[in-house]
Amino acid sequence: MPPPEETPGADDDLYREDRCTRCGVCCGGADGHPCEHLRRTDERYYCEIYGRQRGFHHTVDGLPFRCVSIREIIETMGGYECCAYVKALRACERRAEKT
Ligand code: SF4
Repeated sequence: MPPPEETPGADDDLYREDRCTRCGVCCGGADGHPCEHLRRTDERYYCEIYGRQRGFHHTVDGLPFRCVSIREIIETMGGYECCAYVKALRACERRAEKT
């Protein structure tokens, strides 16, 4: 991914909040070790402490972890293929390759 300073405004759009589909994967919703604060409605997940979630927490089975932004997850470990932000990033990369 190019540094943000090379594409002013592009990262803001890429990481805009309404892109999230609330699949819950980044919060452990699919790996058997969800965050203790992850909750689910009929169709989507949500964070019960959204807005003050960053920092150290535990999974429901007691494993400690640090909650970070999806941007940090993607930039440090690539994210998750099913994540809407990763899909958007891949689409941007494909467009850039064609130009
Ligand atoms: S994995 Fe991506 S799309 Fe799914 S909840 Fe996390 S940020 Fe949202």
